[in-house]
Amino acid sequence: MGDEIDKAQAAKPGGDTIFGKIIRGEIPTKFIHEDSECVAFHDISPQAPVHFLVIPRKPIARLSDAADSDTSLLGHLLLVARKLAKDLKLDNGYRVTINDGADGGQTVYHVHVHVTGGRQMEWPPG
Ligand code: AMP
Repeated sequence: MGDEIDKAQAAKPGGDTIFGKIIRGEIPTKFIHEDSECVAFHDISPQAPVHFLVIPRKPIARLSDAADSDTSLLGHLLLVARKLAKDLKLDNGYRVTINDGADGGQTVYHVHVHVTGGRQMEWPPG
């Protein structure tokens, strides 16, 4: 857990990210969804039995950089998250998380929606 905090505190916005490379196909990744606005894939380090990410193709670094003109894009990410959660049979519920900035625990500066499920989530998160 300490490692994650260190990673988040060390990560800095700016420039290309691993998600940019994934979106451009430079890092082969199995998408569980793709459309003109976003892609989704399973997290490489799952924190629950089901853990996937929904990522806009537009490289917004973090939620706090999103503009009013991104309203429909951000809504789309949530509806794709909902659709995939249903496809993956998370019928008992799931958690949707967006980490923003160092204190939010963000390590990759390309905004993304985490969906975790398949077990009871705890509150508050760490
Ligand atoms: P955050 O800490 O909110 O920025 O989330 C970044 C997430 O990206 C973490 O949960 C990582 O495990 C995940 N991640 C990093 N690299 C990859 C990758 N190549 N494929 C899938 N997930 C990744």
